[in-house]
Amino acid sequence: MSVVLYDTSLRDGTQGEDVQMSVADKLTIAQLIDDLGVSYIEGGWPGSNPRDEAFFEEARKLQLKNAKLAAFGATRRSGIKCEQDANLQALLRAEVPCLTIFGKSWRFQATEVLRISPEENLELIEDSVRYLKQHVPEVVFDAEHFFDGYKDDAPYALECLRAALRGGADYLTLCETNGGALPHEVAAAVAHAARELAATAQPGSAAGARARLGIHTHNDCECAVANSVAAVRAGAIMVQGTVNGYGERCGNANLISIIPALQLKLGLPCVTDAQLQKLRHVARTVDEISNRTPWASQPYVGRSAFAHKGGMHVDAVKKNSRAYEHIEPELVGNHRRILLSDLSGRANVELKAKELGIELDPKSPETRKILEKLKQLEADGYQFESAGASFKLFVLQSLGQLREHFTLRDLEVQIAFGDEARGARAQAAERDVTRVRIEIGVGDEVAYSSARGEGPVHAMDLALRSVIDRFYPQLEAVRLVDYKVRVLTSADGTGSVVRVLIQSSDGSEVWGTVGVSPNIIHASWNALVDALVYKLVKDGVEPYLAAGGRQERPSQPALPAAK
Ligand SMILES: [Zn+2]
Repeated sequence: MSVVLYDTSLRDGTQGEDVQMSVADKLTIAQLIDDLGVSYIEGGWPGSNPRDEAFFEEARKLQLKNAKLAAFGATRRSGIKCEQDANLQALLRAEVPCLTIFGKSWRFQATEVLRISPEENLELIEDSVRYLKQHVPEVVFDAEHFFDGYKDDAPYALECLRAALRGGADYLTLCETNGGALPHEVAAAVAHAARELAATAQPGSAAGARARLGIHTHNDCECAVANSVAAVRAGAIMVQGTVNGYGERCGNANLISIIPALQLKLGLPCVTDAQLQKLRHVARTVDEISNRTPWASQPYVGRSAFAHKGGMHVDAVKKNSRAYEHIEPELVGNHRRILLSDLSGRANVELKAKELGIELDPKSPETRKILEKLKQLEADGYQFESAGASFKLFVLQSLGQLREHFTLRDLEVQIAFGDEARGARAQAAERDVTRVRIEIGVGDEVAYSSARGEGPVHAMDLALRSVIDRFYPQLEAVRLVDYKVRVLTSADGTGSVVRVLIQSSDGSEVWGTVGVSPNIIHASWNALVDALVYKLVKDGVEPYLAAGGRQERPSQPALPAAK
C-alpha cells in the first residue's frame, strides 16, 4: 500500500500567524513541493480572496512533475442551486484537476452554525460533490470537525461521509479541525469509519466499492503528526499536511515529519529515496521564502536533529552512529554534527578537528591541552559551533602550526553622530562619519591605512582590506556575508561581554569566525582577522616577506574546507 500526500501549505498553511507568502512565493513553493514528490498541492481558496484566484491563473502554467493542483472551497449555501453558488463557480474557474470542498459532519455545527436541519446538511454535501464531479476528474470531500462530530453523534458523522460518497467523492478526508484529539481516539474513529463505509459503499458507485479515506489534523495537542500516522495505520490512505507544520494556531500536521515516519519507519512508500533526500532542502527553503527562522530542533531536518554534544554520546556515535541516532541523517538530506561545548570530551575535539582536516591523537598530551584551552575559551564566551574557521585556527595555533601573516600595531576608531555631525556630513557629502585608522605590521614592513564606513565594523573592514590586499591579493575575493552580535552577560548591562559571529565567502566556500570581548569593536576585529587569516591558511599562502629579505620558508599544504 502506498500513501497519497496532499499538501495544503499554500492554503491552510498561510493561516499561520507569522506566515507571509506573495503569489510569486507560492509559485516557488509549489515547485519545491512538487520536487518532493507530493501528489496534490492545494493552492488556495479562490472564492475567498483575489490573491488565490491570481495564484491559480499563474499556477496553471507551472510544469509540475508529480503533483496535481487542487483548489479549496465549501459546499453550496442553503437555499440555492450549485449553479448559482458563487463559491462553487469560483472553484470551477480555477481550472484545476482536483477540487476539495469541506462540509459539516458535526450535527451541532449544522444546526447551530449553519442553522439548517441535519437532513438538509446531507443534501448540501451530496449535491455539491455531485455537481463538481460533473466538471472535474477528482473531488475530495473534507469532513470538517469529523472527530468532534463522531464523539457527539457517530451515526450522523458517518452519514455525512456516505452523502459525499453517494455524490461521487474520490476521497473522504476526516478532519481533526480543532486539534484536540489524541492518537488512540483518532485511530478508533478512522478504523470504525473504514469498516462502516466498506460495508455500505455500493459496488459500482463512483468511488468504487471501498471509500478512500484521508486524514487532516491540527497540532493543538502536539499530536498532529502522531494522529496522522495513527490514522494511516487505521486505514486512511491520504494524508493532508503542510511543510514544517505551518498553519493556524499551533499549526497543521507537519508533512516533513510524516513523510519519513511513513516511509522509513512503517515501510509505506510515499516518495522516492532521491525525493526523500530533498526533505531538508525543501523544509529550509520554504522557511526562507516564508520569512521564518528555521527551527533548530525540528525533527529530521533541523540543524540540531543529528548534533551531538555530550562527550560520552560523541564517543558512542563515533563507534556506531546507531547508538544515538534513530535514522541515518543522509536519508533525509541532513548530516551529523559534532558540537564543541563545555561538555566536550576528547572525542568531540578529535572528531571536529578531523572534520576540518586535522588529525589529532585523542590520547596525546596536545589533545588534552587543546581541550583544556577550549574549555577556558568557552567559559569566556567563545562558541565554535558556527565558527569552524576560528576553531581550525585555534587548533593550528595550539599545535604551533599557525604562522603569522600580519600583526595589528594600532587601531583607532572615531565615531561622531548628532546634529552637528549630521551638518558636517551634509557639507562634506559623506554618508557617515565613522573613521578608522590602522597600523599593521607585515613581515618587516609597517603599513598604515584609514577609511570611512557605514559604522565601525564596515570602516574597519575597509581600512584593513585597503592595506592588506597589497600584500595578499587572494583576499580581494573575500566578502563578509553575515555579521551577528550576541550579548552574553546581560547582568552587567551595557558593560556586557559580546560575541561576534561573522560569515565570509570567497565565492566557492562559506566559513564562520568568532570574536569575544566586552568591547564590540575588539570582538568584531578578532572575528574579521580570523576570517582573512583562514582564507590565507586554506589557500596555503606563505606569510609575506620584505623584498630582498629572508630565505623563503617551505610552503604549507592547502587545508581542506571548514564547516
Ligand atoms: Zn485545517
